[in-house]
Amino acid sequence: MSRYCLQCGKANNACICDWIKPIDCSIRVVILQHPSESKRPMGTAKILQLSLSQCDIWVGEDFSQHPELNVLLQDEQTESLILYPSDNSQSLESVALRCDELSAENKRLCLILLDGTWKKAYKMWQLSSNLHSLPCVSLPSHLQGNYRIRKAPTEQHLSTVEAGFHALSAIKPQVDFSPLVTAFTNMVDFQISQMPEGVFERNYNT
Ligand SMILES: [Zn+2]
Repeated sequence: MSRYCLQCGKANNACICDWIKPIDCSIRVVILQHPSESKRPMGTAKILQLSLSQCDIWVGEDFSQHPELNVLLQDEQTESLILYPSDNSQSLESVALRCDELSAENKRLCLILLDGTWKKAYKMWQLSSNLHSLPCVSLPSHLQGNYRIRKAPTEQHLSTVEAGFHALSAIKPQVDFSPLVTAFTNMVDFQISQMPEGVFERNYNT
């Protein structure tokens, strides 16, 4: 018997599958994951992948030669954009309008997310030159993360699943993405409950 759940990849005693609720959504989501994220017990990209009807996780640092990503970027039926801070990023409202236009043309929107610490995501962005020509979209700066376990450079740093939740909810308000947050909250609560008493307060509640 494996120590890890075959579905979610978490340790068997920390399996998150029971909290996952399938969400049907016409937006494709691609998560570019830094290799250091893939084995972290608190990784949240998996919640998106297990919940959303069209979501892939591709692992790497430099994606400029990534065959599947390059096929996606050249696909004329798909308009891709990346959730990444930029001076001339589009508003989520304009992306929502564009998403409706695309469905009317039988095309689809693909939202690309970078999964890594702020520093690693920056490195991935720099190396992956094929991403630079994509339109960027950013989340409103007032959003705060519920990532109580991991140290973030600013209060605004959201986990990948939270970032995905906020972006998708703004682009497709008619779809209920809240099961993503429920699964995430359950996972964080479980991890905190597994910590020896006092560890959380000492190390994370800063
Ligand atoms: Zn599982």
